[in-house]
Amino acid sequence: RTKQQALFIIFGGTGDLAKRKLYPALFELYRKGILSEHFAVIGTARRPWSDEHYQTVVRNSVSADDQQQVNEFSKHFCYQSHNVNDTKHYVTLKKLAERLDQKFKIGGNRLFYLAMSPRFFGTIAGHLKSQKIVTADGYNRMIVEKPFGRDFKSANELNQAIGQYFAEKDVFRIDHYLGKEMVQNIFALRFGNNIFRSLWNSRYIDNIQITLSESLGVEERAGYYETAGALRDMVQNHILQIVSLLTMNMPASYSETDIRREKICALKALKVYQPQEVKQNFVRAQYVAANGLKGYRQEDQIDPQSQTETFAAGKIFVENENFSNVPIYIRTGKRLQTKATRIDIIFKAVPGNIFTTQQLADNILTIKVEPEGEISLQVNTKKVGQGYQLQQQQFNLFPADKHQLIPEAYEKLLADALVGDATNFTHWEEVAYSWKFVDAVRHAWDQQKAALATYPCGSMGPKQADQLLAADGRHWIFN
Ligand code: NAD
Repeated sequence: RTKQQALFIIFGGTGDLAKRKLYPALFELYRKGILSEHFAVIGTARRPWSDEHYQTVVRNSVSADDQQQVNEFSKHFCYQSHNVNDTKHYVTLKKLAERLDQKFKIGGNRLFYLAMSPRFFGTIAGHLKSQKIVTADGYNRMIVEKPFGRDFKSANELNQAIGQYFAEKDVFRIDHYLGKEMVQNIFALRFGNNIFRSLWNSRYIDNIQITLSESLGVEERAGYYETAGALRDMVQNHILQIVSLLTMNMPASYSETDIRREKICALKALKVYQPQEVKQNFVRAQYVAANGLKGYRQEDQIDPQSQTETFAAGKIFVENENFSNVPIYIRTGKRLQTKATRIDIIFKAVPGNIFTTQQLADNILTIKVEPEGEISLQVNTKKVGQGYQLQQQQFNLFPADKHQLIPEAYEKLLADALVGDATNFTHWEEVAYSWKFVDAVRHAWDQQKAALATYPCGSMGPKQADQLLAADGRHWIFN
């Protein structure tokens, strides 16, 4: 990729996300030469920091052997104390932006990164326009963080608030799972290999299983999490995005327009449940104390009677030509046994087993997204030796030596935003259909009086999530 010219304005520049993800990602782009002399960053937030202090924070947030390079990098950063509701502050921000644009010869390209509460997005977008912080001579793109709304209605309002000032093509909604190498690999696997392409449908696939498990509890995000829960926090965005990549039809080309069009169609085809169906097809639960760890209701800032789910599992259907009738089992939760993101695609059994006395193992394609990327295929082969014994073998399709080269999701997504490629960002219509599906589940849960299921910290979730599959004669492949 070629050198880029851009001024980033990061709203929420003192925040956790900026320090943990954005500054390290920007540094990687700098190290690789994608950002070089013609870039600058303005960090804004309420705290009264100096440029010097901000630059120290930036330096401390990146780890690199070459300290000289880190110092050079940090010189591109300026801080502007800023209350997003105060119009006067945008006047100062505009002047600073113009000064940096000239100093670093940026040419008017601007990326506004909204790394703060979504309730400010509309205000910020409006001020950027009214105070003319958007430029006429370069591009003006807005990158927004999750959560994008808490249901369809609020997401729609948020979208309209932003949409008044920024066109859809300039709004880059982050779902950092789309920046993960193994998630991006789904395209290559599905559409680059005829053996998978031709089998990728309900005639050959028995079921799909997706797990996004976290080992941590709510940590510092208790306030937000109490109002969200696992369904809103993980299913509406990350899990449904993965579902769309696994079930979309083949796009006409590997391009933003064609890929997003097919993803939208897949999400539109999600079977939206009636309340009674939610009861049969979805499970929600909360973690309780075990293995020396506190239960959710004992955590700081959590209501001791909280009804917020920290775990959600469900069986969902995408009713398109290739996938109607293929159950997609999903689950996600906090304080589970391990931190992992994993997709298992279980193929149907061979019709008629000629090895009458021996069982054939299922063919399973497994995509491990994290902690380590890996793609493997389970097949049956013959054991070496006399007689005829079968054995299961795992073929690793993604060699481990590639691992050290894997860039962080944020680095890849920022690089995409710099060149205006929104393939791996979520289109508004994707967000809208996802919320419509999730709202139906949420609505049924809110009506139900039944107590939440529970699971001990360190387990793989409540037994109800196992029963969901057992009722169909199946089990979770990942245990
Ligand atoms: P944070 O609380 O650490 O930071 C919020 C930032 O907003 C701070 O810089 C604060 O000074 C600034 N701010 C708040 N009110 C302001 C105002 N009125 N005017 C100006 N600045 C103001 O939050 P975070 O964890 O960095 O998250 C930021 C956004 O990113 C949130 O929308 C969050 O949901 C999302 N997000 C965060 C993570 C993460 O890992 N931290 C992951 C995914 C999404």
